[in-house]
Order: sequence, then C-alpha cells, then structure tokens
Amino acid sequence: MGGAEPSLAELGVVPRTMRGVYSVNMQKSRIRELIGDERRGFTNPDGSPMYERVKHHLRRVGTTNHCIVCGMPDLPAVLAFAHIHFDDLHLSPRNDPTRVFRLCWHHHHGCYDQGYISTVELLETRRLG
Ligand SMILES: [Zn+2]
Repeated sequence: MGGAEPSLAELGVVPRTMRGVYSVNMQKSRIRELIGDERRGFTNPDGSPMYERVKHHLRRVGTTNHCIVCGMPDLPAVLAFAHIHFDDLHLSPRNDPTRVFRLCWHHHHGCYDQGYISTVELLETRRLG
C-alpha cells in the first residue's frame, strides 16, 4: 500500500480507447446539433419536419427563399441550389447526397464552390431562416 503510485484513473488519465469513444460521441452530438437528430426522424422540437423533399432535392424547411449566407431574397435568376459537397455527406441526413443549400450566385460560385464557405458554416448560417 504505502508508496504505491496513484492509478491512472486517480490521475484523471483517460485511456486512449475511451477518448476515442468520447470524441465520436462528441462528434455525433455536434452533427445532431447541426442537422437534427435521426432518432427523432429529423423533426423540430415541435414535431414538424426539418426537411422537405422537393423534386430531387432534400431541403431544409424554410431556408429556400433567400441566400442563407447574405439573406439576398429569391428574385429571378439571383439564387441557385448548391449540392452538399461529396466529402461532407456525413453532414446530410442519412448521408443523403441530394441535400442542397440555397445560395446567391456570389456565395455559390465565389465562396461555396471555391471552398471559402464550408458545409458546416452553411449549416450554422441556416439559422437565419
Ligand atoms: Zn449570398
């Protein structure tokens, strides 16, 4: 007993495997925060659907009548749909590749396509709508 070194747990050291599980769970909760919760069927707290399928697009309800970055209204030929980047499919409900964002041409081609706006940033700005 005497002189025994404290265990790793007593030192607050978390084994690597536990850290891995922790970070995966953190990542999952972060993704749920951004795109909704698959366990609730991607619904809002009031039970209404978070997404709608329009033609071949999966769209966030209420975020299609303006650019979700700058708020530019949907005047003719001003806005376009940008598909989620292939590398970011994990940020789409059920990895759906038809997930789209509504962007003005500037934010679509100048920023999203050029990589200056990330999918995560778009998911955060969607709160404007
Ligand atoms: Zn814009």
